[in-house]
Amino acid sequence: MVHIVGAGCGAADLITLRGARLLGEADQVIYAGSLVNPELLELARPGAVLHDSASLTLEEVVALAEEGERRGWSTVRLHTGDPCLYGAIREQMDALAARGIPFDVTPGVSSFCGAAAAIPAEYTLPGVSQSLIITRAAGRTPVPEGESLSSLAAHGASMVLFLSAGLLAKAQKELLAGGAYTPDTPAAIVYKATWPEERVFPCTVGTLEAAARQAGVSRTALVLVGDFLGKDYRRSDLYNPGFSHGCREGDGNRREELP
Ligand code: SAH
Repeated sequence: MVHIVGAGCGAADLITLRGARLLGEADQVIYAGSLVNPELLELARPGAVLHDSASLTLEEVVALAEEGERRGWSTVRLHTGDPCLYGAIREQMDALAARGIPFDVTPGVSSFCGAAAAIPAEYTLPGVSQSLIITRAAGRTPVPEGESLSSLAAHGASMVLFLSAGLLAKAQKELLAGGAYTPDTPAAIVYKATWPEERVFPCTVGTLEAAARQAGVSRTALVLVGDFLGKDYRRSDLYNPGFSHGCREGDGNRREELP
């Protein structure tokens, strides 16, 4: 059996209880070495076989899983953050399925959540944005045409760019070309969210590239964009004394502003 497990985005204690249990039970762990906290490997039992996948191909990873299966082992494939985002797990799942190897997936704390905690911020503010666009700038991996940064930027929604900290000169232009963000729209570069080296570099859409250059950050960072990083928003209805819902009878005359 292969367990695809999200390691969380940095701090070792952000792995789920299930992920930690599976790691502790594994006979073999194939971990994404570049971004998985090495402390997590201490959860593996003594004698478990550890492979860093940084230098492996898909074929080699699948061969290790297949060999583990032949021996009746439990294999953990440990991915950074949550495996469902930029994790290249679809091809692994298809390859395992094609070989009749059973697998399951355990989610993890994605870096876009870790980055929000680092700021700290809420992506979905009433009166500001109720949507989060998760995307990346086109680099060596192309992005489908209908998902160009400028077209996504036209919504003015909260946005997180993965894998883009080294591509900000072009990204900045495209974000502005969308027409909804201005050069003054708040932005932030979050480096190694939840790791001990975590740093937050607040900036604006107009200064993204300069901020990354000045900070010397070109990888292991997320770029956050949008007015959710600003001061203004509307308080939520859910907790407003004047708002009624299934669990609480509100006083319609008491519509409160922010305390
Ligand atoms: N599955 C992962 C993303 C893997 S792609 C997740 O859910 O987070 C790798 C990219 O994720 C990096 O280039 C960087 O943009 C981002 N990333 C991963 N961990 C990060 C962290 N702790 N802080 C900031 N960005 C991170």
